[in-house]
Amino acid sequence: MTTVTLTDLEKRYPNGHQAISKLNLSIEQGEMVVLVGPSGCGKSTLLRMIAGLETITQGDLLIDNLRVNEHEPSERDIAMVFQNYALYPHMSVYNNMAYGLRNRKTPKTQIEELVTNAANMLEISHLLDRKPKELSGGQRQRVAMGRAIVRKPKVFLFDEPLSNLDAKLRVQMRLEIKKLQRKLSTTSIYVTHDQVEAMTLADKLVVLNQGNIEQVGTPLEIYESP
Ligand code: ADP
Ligand code: ADP
Repeated sequence: MTTVTLTDLEKRYPNGHQAISKLNLSIEQGEMVVLVGPSGCGKSTLLRMIAGLETITQGDLLIDNLRVNEHEPSERDIAMVFQNYALYPHMSVYNNMAYGLRNRKTPKTQIEELVTNAANMLEISHLLDRKPKELSGGQRQRVAMGRAIVRKPKVFLFDEPLSNLDAKLRVQMRLEIKKLQRKLSTTSIYVTHDQVEAMTLADKLVVLNQGNIEQVGTPLEIYESP
């Protein structure tokens, strides 16, 4: 049961810029929270702080009631899916997906099982021997998803994962991400600037503005309130 709790969280960059101010947010087990808001409002900063890629200036970040403020990214049991896929270009799809598991000294037979299952789920089993450059954008995004799910992390973080895809593929992948997230029931935080994507995916929408939460609610409450 994985919850994520942010308490009075703050980020001030070394140049003095306050990107996140006293932010409070609670994310329930299995919930998908979508962060929206204008460019520069702090979406990436917040996601990167949760991932452990940015330091926390003040406040607390709890994952399952454990304060992880100073934990390394690898100690947080979180998987992040990026816009630019961030695949290793010289490695096969199989090895891209296996990489994180090998680092954790997962036994080889178990790696094979986890990668095979994830590849089936994402319908990329026929691509395991290819290199990223031999894949389409949508296929690369599936591999990036596969790499995230094989580790069975407690939390998924998505940083505009579909924004490099064409419109048709974006719609398709959006539905697949929703299905996968429901199926795995992994607590998720998803950043997007696409309103339709936000409405389709969110259990809870968080509207950020200048480092503060402006609104929180279901898509219906936020977009269709009178
Ligand atoms: P968003 O993802 O919503 O577009 P960001 O989190 O990238 O917003 O940025 C939030 C604010 O922090 C912006 O004003 C941005 O210019 C600033 N910012 C981002 N990264 C840095 C940095 N490394 N140093 C200083 N300011 C930064
Ligand atoms: P490289 O050629 O870059 O060394 P490979 O793709 O040949 O990488 O794979 C390296 C290891 O990954 C192999 O030893 C094998 O155990 C495993 N592997 C690769 N592809 C598969 C696959 N389709 N099914 C199961 N294991 C695989």
